[in-house]
Amino acid sequence: MEEVLNRFLEITADPYNSIAQYKEKTGQKVIGCFPMWIPEEIIHAAKALPVVMWRSNEPVTLGHVHLPPYNCAISRSIVDDALKGKLDFMDGMIFFRECLISEEVPFILEKNIKLSYIDFLYFPPLYLDDVGRDFMLGELEIFKKGIEKLTGKDISDAALLESIEIYNENRSLLRELYEVRKKTPGILKGRDILNIVWSGMLMPKEEHNSLLRDLLEEIRNSKVTQQVDERRKVILTGCLCQTPQVEILDLIENLGMTIIDDDLFTGSRYFISDLEVNGNPLKSMVDRYFKRPPICPTKADFETHLGDYLADMAKKVEADGVIYFLTKMCPPQLTYYPDVKRRLAKRGVPEILIEIEHELISLEGTRTRLEAFKETIGGV
Ligand code: SF4
Repeated sequence: MEEVLNRFLEITADPYNSIAQYKEKTGQKVIGCFPMWIPEEIIHAAKALPVVMWRSNEPVTLGHVHLPPYNCAISRSIVDDALKGKLDFMDGMIFFRECLISEEVPFILEKNIKLSYIDFLYFPPLYLDDVGRDFMLGELEIFKKGIEKLTGKDISDAALLESIEIYNENRSLLRELYEVRKKTPGILKGRDILNIVWSGMLMPKEEHNSLLRDLLEEIRNSKVTQQVDERRKVILTGCLCQTPQVEILDLIENLGMTIIDDDLFTGSRYFISDLEVNGNPLKSMVDRYFKRPPICPTKADFETHLGDYLADMAKKVEADGVIYFLTKMCPPQLTYYPDVKRRLAKRGVPEILIEIEHELISLEGTRTRLEAFKETIGGV
């Protein structure tokens, strides 16, 4: 199993290098997609490689000239990376209205670096009726035309359907892997699962599917059966738009907890729902955007509640608690937190908030909070 896991890790260990190398080898265009909801299938159908833009591990330096330290990590990191020329291998960047902070990023880049192609997708932040859907469909049509122009390839419905099938297979394989983790807690470490999901955002889905099939096969052959895991089970949620630091996942496990499921962006949120094709593929993309789960703080939702969803999720997998990874300086996520806390408390599900910063200076504060949480939920 080690060997397959290392192949996922090779991609995430140095995404800049692995993607640039891939581009050199294949000559394919690489298009960066701002997290979290850009329909990558449109780019894939034009035979380009969509990559979800990521938070670098490097301290932000040049980026501070344009964005204050009280902006979220992903926005500062992308601006910083772009100014340092680290994203020069990208043939285009697509931005997305996630929140007010995300809206600033493309304009800062446009003014300060030479970009061959940039687009901005505006999807409605509200679950509305047909007006919102029509507007979004219009945005997708413009986006598709832009990608056709950039790549010089017409995107037919047949090509879109083929890409959707490949993406749905990826989602289904990842869900299968998560089911394995639920049945055999601890079979894969939190950091392994993170690398597996994250690598899929950075490499061709066909290759990722093949790696996932190999991994699942190896797990089946290893004959690991349902284990008696004495450790307390926890669910992770949040960390919008970015990856949490693997050191924090290690810490959770080293303190005697096991991660049984998650609702992270670099986790189940990315693949929980399929894109179900019902006639027009673009319309189906609109439907997927409005689908729940996942319940996302960047989409105002008056009907469903993240806290209730997490409580149900905890009940289903018999989790002992929820760890809420708050992306520091993320207004949508912070706004949701009080309601999540209140609803989880009402349902008797212990919860703790852990802030995820851009630069991990010390783990000591996080360790103290997690130790206290572990004492609350008990266990060995
Ligand atoms: S949703 Fe949060 S993490 Fe994402 S861009 Fe907005 S503030 Fe940053």
